[in-house]
Amino acid sequence: MNNIIIFDICAFIILVIFISSMLLKKQMRDRANTILLILMELAALATISDFMAAYIENYYEAADVGLSLAYGANYIYFLTHNLMFPVYTLYIYATADIWHIYKQNRKAVYLWWGLVGFDIVLLLINPFTHIMFRLTEDLKYVRGPFIIVFYLVAAFFGLWGLWIIIRYKAIVRHDKASTLILLYPIIFSAIIIQVIWPEVLVEMLSIAVAVLFFMIVLQRHEYQLDPVTGAMKYTTSIDRINAIFNMHKPITIIFIKIANHNNIRLYLGQSRYNAYLRTQTSALSSIAYRHNYPVDVFYLDNGTYAYLSDDYDINNAIPIAEEVKEYMAKPMEVDEFSVLPDARICVVRCPEDVEDFSTIFTLATTFHETLGKTNDVVLYAEHRNDRDFMIRNEMDDILARALDNRSFEMYYQPIYSTTEDRFVSAEALLRLKDDRFGFIPPGVFIPMAESSGAIHEIGDHVLDAVFDFIARNDLDELGLKYIEINLSAAQCIEVDLVDKILHMIATKGIDATRVSLEITETAANINPAIVDSNVHRLHDEGIRFALDDYGTGYSNIRRVTTLPVDQVKLDKSFVDEIDNPKMWIVIRDTIAMLREMGKEVLVEGVETEEVAERLIKVNTDLLQGCELIQGFYFCKPLPEDEFIEFIKKRI
Ligand code: C2E
Ligand code: MG
Ligand code: MG
Repeated sequence: MNNIIIFDICAFIILVIFISSMLLKKQMRDRANTILLILMELAALATISDFMAAYIENYYEAADVGLSLAYGANYIYFLTHNLMFPVYTLYIYATADIWHIYKQNRKAVYLWWGLVGFDIVLLLINPFTHIMFRLTEDLKYVRGPFIIVFYLVAAFFGLWGLWIIIRYKAIVRHDKASTLILLYPIIFSAIIIQVIWPEVLVEMLSIAVAVLFFMIVLQRHEYQLDPVTGAMKYTTSIDRINAIFNMHKPITIIFIKIANHNNIRLYLGQSRYNAYLRTQTSALSSIAYRHNYPVDVFYLDNGTYAYLSDDYDINNAIPIAEEVKEYMAKPMEVDEFSVLPDARICVVRCPEDVEDFSTIFTLATTFHETLGKTNDVVLYAEHRNDRDFMIRNEMDDILARALDNRSFEMYYQPIYSTTEDRFVSAEALLRLKDDRFGFIPPGVFIPMAESSGAIHEIGDHVLDAVFDFIARNDLDELGLKYIEINLSAAQCIEVDLVDKILHMIATKGIDATRVSLEITETAANINPAIVDSNVHRLHDEGIRFALDDYGTGYSNIRRVTTLPVDQVKLDKSFVDEIDNPKMWIVIRDTIAMLREMGKEVLVEGVETEEVAERLIKVNTDLLQGCELIQGFYFCKPLPEDEFIEFIKKRI
């Protein structure tokens, strides 16, 4: 009976297309892809040898081709076909991200090799015993008595794979599990067909069809890659790391932060900068590849790359990190521009060093500020107990705790009027005392709250607390005209800011003129339309405005002239340089200029009598004396009770 070899031809074509597409697309050389490639190559070889064996059996006489060629085709078929099942079992482990479970289970590894070895031994002794199969003189294939052993081993591997999928279904992604299982009914139907109609060689075609599913569903899709950098996307890393934490899989992560990425972008321009990032991705991939280190390279935005590796041995990670360090220390040419990255590198192991998902991402964004020195490899394990570092890492929790426990406290720093020779107002400053870390300065937690978004809730808390203070105390009696409250840039662009503040002051029954809101130049510059509208509307209701930290940013004179600010606060950096004659000219003339515009001028950070005196006596054609002074010379920020006591003594 003639075998129907057309199915094998189809299977072969499908497999060759996939193998070439995998090679051409230069798919990521991770373990699952490598095993899939091996599986496809085995399937292609099995298909072609199956086809050859059938063809020889159908169309040739022994005299034409010789018995050895026919045997050759059959041996290649058995070898490659029998290897496909154990390799598929490995593919399940790799693609379901549970390779570590296989590796840790010595018995499983020995069993795998034992059974593969057993199959090979049976094939090796077959020429002498013909217990598996033999060919007759007229090239007909005859099954041996032990051929069933091959099927049993194959069935065993099949069941093994099925068992893994079922056993670990809780930690294997649903689409992966169902695709991996799909192979079973497909192959099972093919085997049934071949049992009923032995001449219909559909088994290899069924395998090729299953591969088609794997390629479509399981392989890393383009959407997982960042089109700009060529690395895996940030979003993919979130999925991946989340899954890894859920299944308690040990991994090593190497973060590489190009701390000066913004400067590089500015210097190169966007399109050259993109090319620069692409080159970095491929350089990082090849470093890992040279070391035979199994990794995926991720780009986490803002100049941060991450190597994610299943290799948990820190001794394998360090040489990679060191090589990255050396590579990054050298300038890189992009067109005619030479770029020197300021790289910070940090090696982390999970779950040993970091046990939760969110800390990993906080670490990715903050480690360079506290840990990394330029071109230094930092092992996270050695630093995770540093106080500063822990504070930064746990800031989200610290802030949430502070809001829950109401452990934020408002301090008040008196503001001195040189013309009235008394304290006329005060600035409210937020203080945070954490149960675990003690006092944390606002200079640390405010910027972090701004980047995490917690600033809105914190800002509301500050407004509430200070409005309560104003409502509780008779400011006139204390000789205070208003209290200044810092508004973060993020608050200035809140759409409901005006309604919120007006509602609060109305319910607390306080007068709008008792409130002065401090905004910074940054806030005045971002999204000017909404800031303008918020400031104008609140100002129209009687709330005062002060421009804080004037002189630290790009002093935007247009904003000073267009925004309805009543007061401008010269930053401490002015008085820090007061002994420099040129700076004195700047201070003097800036005060004069602002005064002529009708603004109240306040100088911040005055620490000594000498500086205070100079400011009090400053004298030009336009001005006599700086109006308002704030600084440690007069008083440090104080808790509410002490502040009231202080003020009462000096009314
Ligand atoms: P800022 O608004 O410019 O506040 C003035 C800062 O200078 C305060 O630091 C104050 O303690 C400090 N200071 C005052 N006089 C002197 C002096 O003579 N010498 C020195 N060395 N420092 C002086 P603080 O309280 O640490 O606050 C730092 C920054 O944190 C503030 O700068 C402000 O930008 C921010 N901040 C503080 N409280 C709040 C708040 O409630 N909301 C928001 N959004 N930001 C706040
Ligand atoms: Mg301020
Ligand atoms: Mg300031």
